[in-house]
Amino acid sequence: MALAENLDRIRARIAIACDRSGRTPDTVELMAVSKNHPPSTIAAAASLGLQLFGESRVQEARLKIPQLPGRLRWHLIGHLQSNKCRDAVGLFSMVQSVDSLPLAQELSRCAAKQAKTLPILLEVNIAGEASKFGWQRDQVLTSLDLINALPKLEIHGLMTLAPYSTDPERARPVFRALYELKRECEQQLGARLPVLSMGMSGDMEVAVEEGSTLIRLGTALFGERPKLQRQPDGA
Ligand SMILES: *Cc1c(COP(=O)(O)O)cnc(C)c1O
Repeated sequence: MALAENLDRIRARIAIACDRSGRTPDTVELMAVSKNHPPSTIAAAASLGLQLFGESRVQEARLKIPQLPGRLRWHLIGHLQSNKCRDAVGLFSMVQSVDSLPLAQELSRCAAKQAKTLPILLEVNIAGEASKFGWQRDQVLTSLDLINALPKLEIHGLMTLAPYSTDPERARPVFRALYELKRECEQQLGARLPVLSMGMSGDMEVAVEEGSTLIRLGTALFGERPKLQRQPDGA
């Protein structure tokens, strides 16, 4: 796998998109999405200087994270079931995929038991796709104060997945809407939300142009994802 070349190419693409939009590359963090990849691949990415990794399943992360250097940071980016909140709080420094009030409440309870405060993002289903998890746009604003009041969660921003398309321009209105929604949330809370997690391998430039602060990259970095060896257990 040409990991180093892939990373160079990604950094060059992001630098150009930053240039075009008057941003500096240090305002865009790269997450390596390591789901389905073995610890050896993750270690290789870490040795190139990558520090932030994204996993979709608690079960898989629980097996892999202990095998890797403790200095790496891990975010959960896949749907979380309430019965896995305790493990998620123990494993991840951020949960980006908070998609309901009951889940937020359970995460706060589990964080309290582990004497932690957990940074979260709210996952928003901007395009309203039936196949995707996430809050509807309006639900975010009506639930925001309740989530913000939970004692052991800290809202750091918003996350979204654009509808799948081979044309990155199709993602632009989705990313723009998430940017606008973050501003509305900031006004309502009277506080700045530093993180806008949007953009993947196929649409990273558009995401940067629309204000993303965190790009989640799987395929562009690692190549095509291996199929899972074992059946996922619904984690
Ligand atoms: C798998 C995944 C990614 C990475 O997708 P690529 O297209 O391979 O870059 C990003 N975000 C989430 C939430 C994912 O599940």
